[in-house]
Amino acid sequence: MRKTIHIAGGGLAGSEAAMRAVAHGLSVVLWEMKPKRFSPAHKNPDLGELVCSNSFRSRDPESAVGLLKLELGILGSVVMEAALETRVPAGKALAADRELFSRAITWKLSNHPDIEIRREEFAEWPEGDDPAVLATGPLSSDAVISLLGEFVPENLFFYDALAPIVTRDSLNAEKLFVADRYGEGEGEGDYLNAPMNDEEFDRFLKALLDADQLTPRPFEEVKYFEGCLPIEVMARRGPNTLAFGPMKPVGLVDPRTGKTPRAVVQLRRENKEGSTWNMVGFQTRLTIPSQSKVFRTVPGLENAEFVRFGAIHRNTYLNAPEVLDPFQRLKAYPRVFVGGQLSGVEGYVESAAQGLWAGENASRVAKNLPPVLPPPDTASGALLNHLRPREGRKVFEPSNVNFGLFPPLPGKVPKKDRGAARLEIAVRSLKTFLESVDYPARGSNPRRDPEPDRDSTDAPPR
Ligand SMILES: Cc1cc2nc3c(=O)[nH]c(=O)nc-3n(C[C@H](O)[C@H](O)[C@H](O)COP(=O)(O)OP(=O)(O)OC[C@H]3O[C@@H](n4cnc5c(N)ncnc54)[C@H](O)[C@@H]3O)c2cc1C
Repeated sequence: MRKTIHIAGGGLAGSEAAMRAVAHGLSVVLWEMKPKRFSPAHKNPDLGELVCSNSFRSRDPESAVGLLKLELGILGSVVMEAALETRVPAGKALAADRELFSRAITWKLSNHPDIEIRREEFAEWPEGDDPAVLATGPLSSDAVISLLGEFVPENLFFYDALAPIVTRDSLNAEKLFVADRYGEGEGEGDYLNAPMNDEEFDRFLKALLDADQLTPRPFEEVKYFEGCLPIEVMARRGPNTLAFGPMKPVGLVDPRTGKTPRAVVQLRRENKEGSTWNMVGFQTRLTIPSQSKVFRTVPGLENAEFVRFGAIHRNTYLNAPEVLDPFQRLKAYPRVFVGGQLSGVEGYVESAAQGLWAGENASRVAKNLPPVLPPPDTASGALLNHLRPREGRKVFEPSNVNFGLFPPLPGKVPKKDRGAARLEIAVRSLKTFLESVDYPARGSNPRRDPEPDRDSTDAPPR
């Protein structure tokens, strides 16, 4: 008898997972609670809703997110297919008409003979032992939270407080010094420190206090923990809040002046290679343009290149390194694969990619095939690798795809050629990998209607 995979959540991740399961010849029951229930951010009854921006970010395949999109194309992603079918001009980015995009996804899934869409809240584990995929996203309903709570009571988080991450190459080493507070670290020092004198600190504070902030929508209101306040909130409490908080200089002596500076910005290594660095304690709700402007007033960061901006927002996600196995299964209940943003990735493209692999592996397990992982030098593999335990990482944070997640490039490659080198390695690696595993193509939709009705949700968008 043909096996059925239950997939909870008809967002980007759940849609990809469903298409992988039918590519494997399995039946799918896709649970989507809309339109009976909407999360506070979802509005459109269609599947694959883009809750905020309509952009899938850069199309440049020599950027990490561009490369991930290219890989998704090779892997037969339904999200990429629909985005290309419904794209709107957006310069170097890939953007879609959000209504048409979701309608295209809905049409592709709802017209597939092997996919049953149940417009119900997923509130119980399906009977039996067959694999299931949980892809209910950053605003998963309470029913899913309580299902997960049974297995991961202390490893389910409800908001992100993300500090910006910058590339090492973009920092001015002459203005920074390496040291740990009171020399407590191992070796020469684990932190890069950007020292500020009185004048520089005042200038930074002024820029911070004048900067634009995001206006939270009601569901985005976060009750901040005192230990995790946005830096602009701390700045408003007076200069000493920052100088005694995340910018405290105690225990640090600037070797150039022999003195303790007025304040410091500390940067902590994000990856083993030291190619990306985290601005410690700099979680913020400033807008992205304001972050670029304000943080570049920090001496040494004038030309900083940000691989991630700071944020604080509602986001349900798992402490993946603790609770998921390498194939995104709950260790405590291995029939359940976790897909999309809930697993600890961040962003539309990343959620789609991660959902695709959750669906691929759930399907393989249902067919008694061994699960597989894309190689770590591909964007898909690097992203999945981020969800694994990592030596020295104290706190797991969700991440967008970025080259800092990749293994180091072999040899010394000039900065301007690194994107091209990554692209070449990743495409070769992914193709070799796909030849070595049974990865069935998605195939065309057998029920494609040659003359669709454009006004109906059941119709394709063009
Ligand atoms: C407010 C907000 C704005 C964002 N903006 C952006 C952005 O601009 N760009 C970007 O790249 N990323 C953005 N993200 C991050 C993230 O990439 C997206 O949320 C992305 O849509 C996640 O994909 P997903 O498939 O994991 O979840 P979703 O796309 O959220 O899909 C989950 C689906 O599950 C359904 N669901 C939830 N609970 C249940 C249940 N119990 N039973 C059945 N169905 C259920 C939901 O209705 C939804 O359709 C944003 C996130 C949030 C919260």
